[in-house]
Amino acid sequence: MPADPTVLCPSAHPDMAGARVFAVVGGSADAPRADYLEHPVPLTDAVRALAGPVDPAEVFRMASPCVGSACHHFDDGEHSCRLAKKTAALAPIVVERLPRCAIRPTCRWWKQEGVSACRRCPQVATLNFVPHEAMRAAADPAVSL
Ligand code: SF4
Repeated sequence: MPADPTVLCPSAHPDMAGARVFAVVGGSADAPRADYLEHPVPLTDAVRALAGPVDPAEVFRMASPCVGSACHHFDDGEHSCRLAKKTAALAPIVVERLPRCAIRPTCRWWKQEGVSACRRCPQVATLNFVPHEAMRAAADPAVSL
């Protein structure tokens, strides 16, 4: 599937083109909680430096254009993001009220899974060395529903 620059991946890595920070991950390693920014901020070198010694993907949630088939989470047959689908299906709900999120109108997870994704989204850390079981399964391309 060709990439659609108007649809944003909400779990982008810092090396992805056009990466913008839209949330800061707090909480703890085994219970991360994203705090959503009012406006996305481009991942400049100065912003990158704010992550300190850790990978920006540990402490920032970043958005960048969905790369479709170039991503190992993308299901060509279904034209959908398996990470979004599995997160909505496997991860626990962590908020009843949807977080105010600046990228919602263009977020692939929202477009695909709606409120089910947003109620689980705050526990997602793009890079997490100690994910709980549900998030580990959601992020593992070898695990299917
Ligand atoms: S899933 Fe919802 S809360 Fe998370 S980035 Fe997308 S629109 Fe925002």
